[in-house]
Amino acid sequence: MATIFSKIVAGEIPSYKIAEDDKHYAFLDINPVAPGHTLVIPKKEVSYLFDLSDEEYTALQLFAKKVALAMKKALPCERIGVTVIGLEVPHAHIHLVPITTEGDMNFSKPKMTLDPTEMAEIKEKITKYIN
Ligand code: 5GP
Repeated sequence: MATIFSKIVAGEIPSYKIAEDDKHYAFLDINPVAPGHTLVIPKKEVSYLFDLSDEEYTALQLFAKKVALAMKKALPCERIGVTVIGLEVPHAHIHLVPITTEGDMNFSKPKMTLDPTEMAEIKEKITKYIN
């Protein structure tokens, strides 16, 4: 059965798309730990990030770098934090989170739900800086 993230790539579930190429997709996390929190995934369904081949892993990281650089330009933050969890959705993904303090990367605190207008505005801001 297709993962929820494959359904997002297929357009069966809506998402705030940040970037896409033939093998990768980036979109806003629906329940961010900080505004602009973005997920970067390979289109290929692999549950565990470190089961990707070296080539696939490297390509995903380079795609994530492109997204992170755009996020840093677009959003008020000191850096873009990177983490991998993967306990909820069994489709490899990298979390990119705009951070100013260490606490901004705390995945244990209650997550946010932003209104659709705010999500759309954040998407617009970041995508302006995607080449
Ligand atoms: P993890 O698997 O790394 O523990 O967490 C999965 C992440 O995916 C969570 O941060 C969660 O908010 C996000 N997520 C789960 N389902 C959806 C969805 O349908 N759309 C979007 N945009 N994000 C999702």
